[in-house]
Amino acid sequence: MKNWNPIWKNHGIRILPGPSSLWIDAKGNRFHAPNFPGFDTLSTLEAIQKTGYDYSWFILTEKIIEKEFALSGSEQNPDLTNKSIKQVLKRILPGPPAPVQAFKERGEDFVVANNVKELVEGMNKLVGNNLLDFINIKEQIIARDRELDNPFTKDAQINAIFCARKYIGDKLIRVSKPHKLLDPSCGPLIAVRLNILTRKTLGGLQTDLNGAVLNHAGEPIPGLFAAGEVAGFGGGGVHGYRSLEGTFLGGCLFTGLRVGRYLAK
Ligand SMILES: Cc1cc2nc3c(=O)[nH]c(=O)nc-3n(C[C@H](O)[C@H](O)[C@H](O)COP(=O)(O)OP(=O)(O)OC[C@H]3O[C@@H](n4cnc5c(N)ncnc54)[C@H](O)[C@@H]3O)c2cc1C
Repeated sequence: MKNWNPIWKNHGIRILPGPSSLWIDAKGNRFHAPNFPGFDTLSTLEAIQKTGYDYSWFILTEKIIEKEFALSGSEQNPDLTNKSIKQVLKRILPGPPAPVQAFKERGEDFVVANNVKELVEGMNKLVGNNLLDFINIKEQIIARDRELDNPFTKDAQINAIFCARKYIGDKLIRVSKPHKLLDPSCGPLIAVRLNILTRKTLGGLQTDLNGAVLNHAGEPIPGLFAAGEVAGFGGGGVHGYRSLEGTFLGGCLFTGLRVGRYLAK
């Protein structure tokens, strides 16, 4: 999402979403498994690209945003940044954390409405086109909601929500209690336009095991060393090409240590 309070030009903030939002493409069609929030970023990115549009939408409720909209970045998580256990524990309480609430009120990618018709009108207005059809979106929401009444549902996302809540940590602060998006007691409906954001690379410089950068012929370039993300030791290195969230820093530190030791020797 575009940061309403940017630190630099075009500053985007990544959502680390819980599993419950309905994810639809720019034309209003729900993505298929495994392209659900927090599941498989590269696969969903491919699906988004195939639509020919560089944005997509989450549709959710107040209840979902309360628990499931973790924002990435130190300034978005003052409780963690300030190492305040008391503040972190407040995540269990109802209501969205203050930085999320600020986005909801001021972020340009947010639409809040009391019914699907108004929501879809707001979404079309935000983008400046009429790609989204109210009836189509409402039918998909009803179909999704209906699966909550079906104990044998084959809706993979609904099953995943129940599954995620088997872990106590997620149940308490990360995954909202399964509910129908059209349940008025779960608060107004919210739509969030999701833009594609680049914030990490899979490297670019090939090195040997001591961190010496190799030329096209695979020979070390004298005096040139690389470690960390630029050398492919964020994602794309030891942790594999799917670049699992949260696994970058370890590889970066490890190669920094390794190259530093080699140079010292
Ligand atoms: C918002 C965000 C959240 C993240 N969250 C996580 C997480 O939760 N867990 C995790 O494991 N990883 C996370 N990562 C990834 C991880 O932080 C990075 O992969 C890692 O910090 C990269 O470290 P590095 O030292 O290789 O590169 P960097 O930290 O990018 O360091 C490169 C340095 O080179 C400097 N530089 C660039 N050009 C020049 C130049 N010409 N001359 C001199 N200096 C230059 C830059 O200013 C920078 O200081 C996150 C990344 C981002 C952006």
